[in-house]
Amino acid sequence: MESLRLQFPALQQAGLIYLDNAATTQKPHDVIEAMSQFYLRDNANVHRGAHRLSARATRAFEGARATLAQFINAPAQHEVIFTRGTTEAMNLLASSLATMQLHPGDHVLVDQWAHHASIVPWQQACHRHGATLHAIPMTAAGRLDFDAFRALLRQHPKVVVLTGISNALGCRVELEPFIAAAKAVGATVIIDGAQMVAHSHIDVQALGCDFFAFSGHKMYGPTGIGALWGKTELLEAMPPYQFGGEMIASVSFEHSSFNQLPFKFEAGTPAIAEAIGLGAAAQWLMRQDRHSVAAHEQQLLQYAQQQLRQLDGITLYSAFADNVGSLAFNVDGEHHQDIGVWLDQAGIAVRCGHHCCQPLMQHLGVKGTCRLSVAAYNTHAEIDAVIAAISDYLEFIDDDA
Ligand code: PMP
Repeated sequence: MESLRLQFPALQQAGLIYLDNAATTQKPHDVIEAMSQFYLRDNANVHRGAHRLSARATRAFEGARATLAQFINAPAQHEVIFTRGTTEAMNLLASSLATMQLHPGDHVLVDQWAHHASIVPWQQACHRHGATLHAIPMTAAGRLDFDAFRALLRQHPKVVVLTGISNALGCRVELEPFIAAAKAVGATVIIDGAQMVAHSHIDVQALGCDFFAFSGHKMYGPTGIGALWGKTELLEAMPPYQFGGEMIASVSFEHSSFNQLPFKFEAGTPAIAEAIGLGAAAQWLMRQDRHSVAAHEQQLLQYAQQQLRQLDGITLYSAFADNVGSLAFNVDGEHHQDIGVWLDQAGIAVRCGHHCCQPLMQHLGVKGTCRLSVAAYNTHAEIDAVIAAISDYLEFIDDDA
């Protein structure tokens, strides 16, 4: 653990306990170094350049794409489209795929715990195309309701968007049966993998989905970069999302023809250093013993759940044994932001709010929650510090009363 933590410069600051990893993770030296080296040595625009710097930049950029394809077990590198992150990947689909697939009277399904990045682009696409967006409900126990999902599939939705791990709650869904059921009625299945990539091995072929979206900054990589994986036949059939340089084959004032995959969906100069940094992050993750990391994170979450359950006046939300990454709670009668500020004074970074999941918060009947979210570098001592700070808070409000 000591040597792992040493790889993260930001964690070396005294008095910092960083438990806001679902929002963004810290970055290891490898990632920072890969990006610095690009700017220090190789900086040039990619593709078409005749000079050696451009060749080096292109090699590193396309090498990052190859790494990502390996990271998610994509069958082909051209199926990996660089985007700014999950949000842009979802907007790409809700623009391009929706134009191809959605017609008046059609249906789209999104899960109840979906991030606004899934809900809003598809809601707006439904408005544009005269389709209807439905929420896949949760059970009273706080899981995604498979029976209710199957009932919704009777409407033969064109598109189903599933969030593999909820960023707000940390609970997960067994994706394979959901994907298989949706595919059986002919739906195109999109996975929001934003919270999956740092915590579990991803195999898009084994999942059986059509698209998988993720963000670099949630998997120890830089901000401003992420990827959309999609099946070749769908990506080839879809119209371009944005237009300009890079994405064209030929242009006249009357007509343009478009480049092949993946460039057709990558208009303009890409985020080159960020893509290289994301490649380095994927390499870094693939070098870790991912089973032990997942087991360690699971233990931390279990420990936090147990400790919080022992305090009076704490409500936990969807806190299951198989949760991944995050744990949501409130101190009864207290505003979540007050807890966030209190914890910050103890040097503890957590996130308090609606976590970009307002429909989920409405479902839970709360304005927001406090969320602690773990990464490979967190420790039991850090969880102890959170519990101690919350105990202090409970004492403080008790004295106040
Ligand atoms: N989906 C989920 C589940 C997320 O956690 C997030 C980020 N909080 C997003 C989508 C959006 O990701 P980004 O802001 O990196 O585009």
